[in-house]
Amino acid sequence: MIVLRAAEMGMCFGVRDALHVLDLLPDPSDVTIHGELVHNPEVLAHLDHRGFHRQPEDHRRIPATPVVLVTAHGISERERARLQAAGRQLIDTTCPLVAKAHRAAQDLVASGHRVIVIGRRDHVEVRGIVDDLPDPIVVERAGDVTTWPEPRLGVLCQTTTQEALADDLLARIRAANPHAEVTFADTICSPTRARISALAALLPRVQALVVVGGHNSNNTRQLVAAGERAGRPVFHVANAEELDIGALAHFGIVGLTAGTSTLPATIDAVETALRQVGTTERRPLSDAG
Ligand code: SF4
Repeated sequence: MIVLRAAEMGMCFGVRDALHVLDLLPDPSDVTIHGELVHNPEVLAHLDHRGFHRQPEDHRRIPATPVVLVTAHGISERERARLQAAGRQLIDTTCPLVAKAHRAAQDLVASGHRVIVIGRRDHVEVRGIVDDLPDPIVVERAGDVTTWPEPRLGVLCQTTTQEALADDLLARIRAANPHAEVTFADTICSPTRARISALAALLPRVQALVVVGGHNSNNTRQLVAAGERAGRPVFHVANAEELDIGALAHFGIVGLTAGTSTLPATIDAVETALRQVGTTERRPLSDAG
């Protein structure tokens, strides 16, 4: 099998830097990881093995350990204050691009806008942004768009939102609110953008696509969706063990990409396994869809 790697894929600097901070902590048993650090089962198993505590972000329960680690996804100022008031020392690994989205939301509020966040309302990053906002709106899909009474609406995105989805929802928001001044703050992060455009360049060259990443990972799902929209069979796996070798053997040229929390070693293991697949059929690219 021929395996073509996307020019940009895998771990972003935000996740890498957060994991580096964790590597340097001498006593993991004193530390609770607050919220979801990464949606990657292999990384989480490694952290559990080192002795870190993990706790879903929970506005009722204060972590029992003296130290609380804020993940790359960030938390609200309200939650930060609550943890500090309970005497917890915070280690903050919030990605600077998530912090930029928080600032954009606050700037929009300060300039008199009601804020609309395009993203997944159950995602920890979105919860962290909207928790500090007065009367926030979250738009996940076209059906969430309606007419709002405010004369000024400020729109921003969860950092891992696909540009095409953001463009579509922004256009719908403008169309449904012709009375309002709609301001857009572009908070899609550059690694997400780079991975989507590298995938767009790769897809015409492959018959099928393998996407490596956690099954709950938002940005990994976006890569899967982009492959499906292009009409390619997509195999979403968390690691090499999940590869369906029998199904993949039907393809001669397979593309490889990975979400932003996927370890390089996991990607390499998937690539190695793919290269060992003896293909039973070599369909020409024109048959790929
Ligand atoms: S996906 Fe983007 S915003 Fe999220 S941690 Fe990585 S670089 Fe930061």
